[in-house]
Amino acid sequence: MLAGDACHTHSPKVGQGMNVSMGDAFNLGWKLLAVLTGRAAPALLDSYNAERRAAAKALRSLIVRECLPKARISLS
Ligand SMILES: Cc1cc2nc3c(=O)[nH]c(=O)nc-3n(C[C@H](O)[C@H](O)[C@H](O)COP(=O)(O)OP(=O)(O)OC[C@H]3O[C@@H](n4cnc5c(N)ncnc54)[C@H](O)[C@@H]3O)c2cc1C
Repeated sequence: MLAGDACHTHSPKVGQGMNVSMGDAFNLGWKLLAVLTGRAAPALLDSYNAERRAAAKALRSLIVRECLPKARISLS
């Protein structure tokens, strides 16, 4: 299981990496606790990837939209 910048490192310019990383940790944390204490089936952990991959993709789209055009302008 990967979380945080280890699986979605990006430009710090949009100031969202910590927020998204804490979302990963929260999502994974309560699921691990539920599974390890026998209150949920291990299949619950499969939802982590689906849910947090969507958040990582949204973050990547934001970076492309907000940072890359400005980077091109500042380079020219
Ligand atoms: C300049 C800058 C400004 C930012 N501003 C914002 C902001 O305003 N808002 C926001 O939401 N995000 C911001 N971010 C992004 C945010 O800091 C990161 O997304 C967040 O810290 C990621 O947390 P993490 O726990 O995944 O990784 P990290 O914070 O990088 O933690 C990883 C930890 O693992 C340790 N480590 C590495 N290798 C090993 C190893 N082999 N063994 C043991 N430990 C190891 C490292 O020393 C580190 O302590 C900014 C980032 C930068 C660089």
